[in-house]
Amino acid sequence: MLQFKYVHIYCNKVNTLDFVNVIVPGVRKYFTSITIDMRHPFLTHIDDAIAENLVSIRISDTKKPFNEQPKIKESEQNVFYEKNFSRPIINGAENNTNTSRREYEELILYDGFLMQRLFHTMINENESNTDHVHIVFEDRLICTFSQEDWRYHARTIVGGNPSIISTTGIVEAPAKPKEWYMKQMQLATYDSDDENEDTSTEKKYLDYGDYRINFIAVGYVLQALFFFITEGDPFCNDNNCRLYNAHWQEELLHSQIETETLCNEHAVLLHKFNTVSS
Ligand SMILES: [Zn+2]
Repeated sequence: MLQFKYVHIYCNKVNTLDFVNVIVPGVRKYFTSITIDMRHPFLTHIDDAIAENLVSIRISDTKKPFNEQPKIKESEQNVFYEKNFSRPIINGAENNTNTSRREYEELILYDGFLMQRLFHTMINENESNTDHVHIVFEDRLICTFSQEDWRYHARTIVGGNPSIISTTGIVEAPAKPKEWYMKQMQLATYDSDDENEDTSTEKKYLDYGDYRINFIAVGYVLQALFFFITEGDPFCNDNNCRLYNAHWQEELLHSQIETETLCNEHAVLLHKFNTVSS
C-alpha cells in the first residue's frame, strides 16, 4: 500500500465541473488524513513542443495500434488547435444538452498512455516522488488500445502518475442505455433534427452539462487514488461499490449516485490507509 500524503487535483479547462462544492469535498470525505489541493488546468499556456506532441498522439484509425497509425501532420492548424484548445468539437452543439452518435465520431481521440507519459514529464521534480499523487481532469477524449479485440476504446480514466480523467470520456466512454442507440438510429434514418428528450431514458445516461457528472467524478478520483492503495488494481466487482468498473452509464449512475458507498473490502483498505496516515 502506497502511503501518499498529497493529492493535487487539476481542474478541467472547460471549467464545467464543480470542484469547490462537490468534487474536492467529496474526496475529502473518504481520504480524511491527507492534503488535497485544487489546481489550475494542467495544460495551460502550452508551447509548440507540447502542442506538437499532442498532435502526434492523436488516434485516427481505432483499429490499428499506435505504431501503425497514419502519421498526422504537425501542421500549423493542428498545433494551433492544441494550443488554443478549449473544448472538444461536438458539431456545433457545444452547449446543447443533446448529443448524438454522429457528433461523437467527430471527436479527436488521443492515446491515453502516451498522454500520461507526456504529462509525467511536465510534473515539477519536487512533486514527482511517491508522496504526491496528481490527478488531471482533461477535456480531450482519451482511448487505450486493447490487445483483446485489437482496437482502441474510449476511456474515462487512465490510472498512474499522473492519473488522467477525461471529462468527455465520462459522457462518451460508458455505453448509454440500449434504447438510446435505437433512438439515434431512428434519427439517422429519418435524418431528423427532432431530438426531443426521450423522457424514458433521460435519467439513465449522462450528457454534457449534467450536474450529476460531479458526483461521478468523485468516484473516478477514488479509483485514481485506490490505484496506489491496491497497487494498480483499483476496480471492484461489486456493483454497489464506487470502485466498480462500469461499462454502462446505468451502472455508473447506480454505483456512484444511488449507492454512493464502498464495499466492505475497500472500506477496510481505506480505513487502514487513513489510520496509518494520521
Ligand atoms: Zn469494492
